[in-house]
Amino acid sequence: KDYKSEVKPTWCPGCGDFGVLNATLRSMAALKLPVDQTVVVSGIGCSSRFPHFIRTFGFHSVHGRALPVAQGLKMARPDLTVIAVGGDGDFFSIGVGHLVHAALRNIDITAIVMDNETYGLTKGQTSPTSPHGHKTKSSPYGLLASQFNPVATALSLNVSFVARGYSARPKELAALIEQATLHRGFSFVHVLSPCPTFYNTFDAWDAAVTPLPEDHDPSSRLKALEYALDSEKQYIGLFYREERPTMERVTREVVEPREFRIDEYIQRYA
Ligand code: SF4
Repeated sequence: KDYKSEVKPTWCPGCGDFGVLNATLRSMAALKLPVDQTVVVSGIGCSSRFPHFIRTFGFHSVHGRALPVAQGLKMARPDLTVIAVGGDGDFFSIGVGHLVHAALRNIDITAIVMDNETYGLTKGQTSPTSPHGHKTKSSPYGLLASQFNPVATALSLNVSFVARGYSARPKELAALIEQATLHRGFSFVHVLSPCPTFYNTFDAWDAAVTPLPEDHDPSSRLKALEYALDSEKQYIGLFYREERPTMERVTREVVEPREFRIDEYIQRYA
C-alpha cells in the first residue's frame, strides 16, 4: 500500500499488467525499499505507464530506451535501486540492441518485461514475440516471421540473472522480482502478461505454464537453455544466476582512483 501512487492504473479491465504491478509492489514492500532511493524507468507502451502507478521516483522515457536510461542512472548513482520496465515491443523490437549491451556490461539494474505477444497500445499488431502465423488486422495472412524467444536469448547473451514469471501468479512473480532486485548485476525477469483486449493468451498460458523442476540447478546455463527452448511448456522460475563483477563497481574501483592520480599529477606539474 505504501508503494502505490495516487494515480489509478489506466489499463483495460483484466490486463495482465495489473498482476505485475501487484507483484512489484509486494516485492518492494518485502525488501522495504526506500521510495526516495528507488527509480522505475520505462519506455513506451501500455506496460510502460508503470512508473506513474508507483510512489518511487520514475522516468517514462522514449520507445525502446528504458535500458540505456536505467544503466546511465545506475552508473551515475550506484546507491539507487533501479528497475527498468516495459513490454515485448519496447524491449525486443526497437530496443533489442540495448539488451545485448546490458548483458555485457552487467550493470546492477533489474529489467521486468511484460510480454503479451502483441502491440496493445496501438491496437494489436504483431510484435517480435507473436507466434509465427498469428493473424491480426495488419497481418491478415498470418505472421511470416519466426517467434522471438526472450529467455533463450537472455541466456545466450549470458545475462547474469534470468527468470520468468506469470502475471496470473503474482505471489511467485513477487518472489522472483525480489530475488532479481537483490541480485548484484543485470537481472532479467520475463513475465507472461496477457492482453485480453487484443490477444488473449490467458487460457493458453494457464495450460502451458509449468514451474521449473525443484532440482533445477540455476548455475547450469545449458540446462536452463533446454527448458527455455521447450516448445510445449512455458517454464516459470529462476532459470539462471551467476555472480560476476558489475560495471558500476569496476568503474569505481579502477577508473576513479586513476582519475585521482591524474588530478594529483596536474596539480604537481601544472
Ligand atoms: Fe493491457 Fe492490452 Fe489493454 Fe494494453 S490494450 S492495457 S496490454 S489489455
